[in-house]
Amino acid sequence: MAEAVRGRFAPSPSGRMHLGNVSSALLAWCSVRAQRGAMVLRLEDLDGERCKSAYSDFLIEDLQWLGLDWDEGPLTGGGCGPYRQSECGPLYEEALRTLEAKGLLYPCWCTRAQRLAAAPHGAEAAEGRCPCYALTEAERAARLAQRPRGVRVLAPDESFTVEDGLQGLFSQNLRHDCGDFLLRRSDGMWAYQLAVCVDDGRMGVTEVVRGRDLLSSTPRQMFLLRELGYEPPRYIHTPLLLAPDGRRLSKRERDLDMAALREALTPERLVGKLAFLLGLTGREYPVTARELAADFNWSRVTAADAVLRGI
Ligand code: GLU
Repeated sequence: MAEAVRGRFAPSPSGRMHLGNVSSALLAWCSVRAQRGAMVLRLEDLDGERCKSAYSDFLIEDLQWLGLDWDEGPLTGGGCGPYRQSECGPLYEEALRTLEAKGLLYPCWCTRAQRLAAAPHGAEAAEGRCPCYALTEAERAARLAQRPRGVRVLAPDESFTVEDGLQGLFSQNLRHDCGDFLLRRSDGMWAYQLAVCVDDGRMGVTEVVRGRDLLSSTPRQMFLLRELGYEPPRYIHTPLLLAPDGRRLSKRERDLDMAALREALTPERLVGKLAFLLGLTGREYPVTARELAADFNWSRVTAADAVLRGI
């Protein structure tokens, strides 16, 4: 018997969802429901500065308004909690210990400014290694006495290929294309890459549907999942929705966020617009998420980004 499908919503409650977030949530939900799988809601609230509990409340309410339900998560509970990343610190500590025991980690004292100046993608020295890698034990001890350290993982000289359900093949050699990457910042904040792997792994997620902007993170996640002893899920990266000037929609600019969308439209009209934009229907008409799921097929979804011409 085929393994039961487990999908997830993994939104960051750092603002009200915008139309782009809604579009990937809708696709993730339709795919899972069409396969009679289980949906998990996990709130990715690691960034305590930006994530507010009011946004978590809005998220939950907005998903409910859209008719997108979940089987496990906040409100419903389930066997894979906690469902808020801010409560998962001990699980991330344990994952770091696993990686440490494999000799894959080293401490890093780079400041944010140094990290941002570094290339490519955060490792400034040749061959993707951070200069902190070359410090001697004595130098490490001296630095540690002065200030806290972050933690980096050694990127292997190995290619990981995503067989994406919509975007096709995407490969990266982690050492050359990404370099060693941070799993924990020196201020103690957990990196998205680590948290998402620990949570997708321990929650038994088999299908990840999310925006195409995260495709380039996926080889790193395939590596971490493997090292943590988990099978990679099936990945499907969905098209981005662009503003008429070609910009990506953003929460910060409050582009077409749920407050505005709920004022302008009913849930059926909003779902109908998205379905048409994504290629799921041949014309625009009001439809519920449940009706859409009944007849859902990935082969109809367009892989290319879509430009919005107003709502
Ligand atoms: N929390 C991320 C976001 O809201 C999504 C992470 C993921 O789907 O892997 O952008």
